[in-house]
Amino acid sequence: METRIQRLEEGATDPRRELLSLLPGELEEWMLSVGEPKYRAKQLFPQLHRGVAPEEMTNLGKRLQQKLQDAFWYHLPVVERKLVSSLDGTVKYLFGLRDGNCVESVVMKYRHGNTICISSQVGCRMGCKFCASTIGGRVRDLTPGELLGQVLAAQKDCGERISNIVMMGIGEPLDNYDNVIRFLHLVNCEEGICIGYRHISLSTCGLVEGIERLMREELPITLSISLHAPDDETRSAIMPINRRYGVDALLDVCRRYYGATGRRISFEYTLIAGKNDSPASAQKLAQVLNGKLRSRQDTMPIHVNLIPVNEVTEAGFRKSSKEAVLAFARVLESRGIRATVRRTLGSDINASCGQLRRETLSSEES
Ligand code: SAH
Repeated sequence: METRIQRLEEGATDPRRELLSLLPGELEEWMLSVGEPKYRAKQLFPQLHRGVAPEEMTNLGKRLQQKLQDAFWYHLPVVERKLVSSLDGTVKYLFGLRDGNCVESVVMKYRHGNTICISSQVGCRMGCKFCASTIGGRVRDLTPGELLGQVLAAQKDCGERISNIVMMGIGEPLDNYDNVIRFLHLVNCEEGICIGYRHISLSTCGLVEGIERLMREELPITLSISLHAPDDETRSAIMPINRRYGVDALLDVCRRYYGATGRRISFEYTLIAGKNDSPASAQKLAQVLNGKLRSRQDTMPIHVNLIPVNEVTEAGFRKSSKEAVLAFARVLESRGIRATVRRTLGSDINASCGQLRRETLSSEES
């Protein structure tokens, strides 16, 4: 097995499979296929999911280690940089992947436990105008093992259990659909770190077909929709994906999703001064959410998270004032929509995703 720091040569391909992407049953099948007893998989899987590499496992034996090395690669993300907020203990990691690419993960400490925000792709191709992750486009998708690896590496580094996951880091999870679904199964495995689906949120900019597919997976995760605007004109101006799936189509699929799963959906709304933060925008938002989601049975709970935009240098957008944020929230509440203003964690370490990777890339470029 290669060492952790060894990297794939650029352009090199490795015919071996990624060990961390295998589900328990697949590992058992592989054991049988190479003439090993099934129980070996039961020995191996929990250790892999604690972040231990096969070459570090003393109970495997040299012969099996060699077989594993011939068939698989195993690489846990490496901590390239780590920033710890002196305000609230939030930890931001810049993780190095096997091919030298980097992604970011953030561990937030709450009273109810530790939550990790993970990335789903290297870069992003959705093009949201306010977002740092999309500058430079999408480089590649993360593998299921790399998605899981962020949780394992962070847990190992901080020495505390991580109990919640939000997929709100770099990338669009539904643009990496199959790998994300496999990751959800992996992270939920009893033999692994066993994080319940109800402790996992997936955030999307609104890929309607992906939401439709997700609905059929019947995983009781929480879905978050990055809405950010109440109408097509405003939304298309800041989120190009809206030209493919407009607000109507997006809210329609949300209604079907709630109908099929009974799972509450939360809406993210980032407030940008002068763009989408007026009381009139709030009225329009309340109207469209109530109209689209509550017209039939009046049952769907609607929750909007208001987030003053994080000012990304390249984007040139300004945060809404505190007064504008509170006024926006009041309008929603007066129309029966729960609104919370997102507490900013790690503001001293640039904790919103995409910024650290961006910073590292630009210092390498200059
Ligand atoms: N692609 C997914 C998940 C990643 S982004 C999505 O769009 O939901 C996670 C959240 O952060 C999204 O709601 C996104 O719109 C928001 N976001 C991105 N850049 C931001 C910024 N500069 N300020 C505030 N929120 C931002």
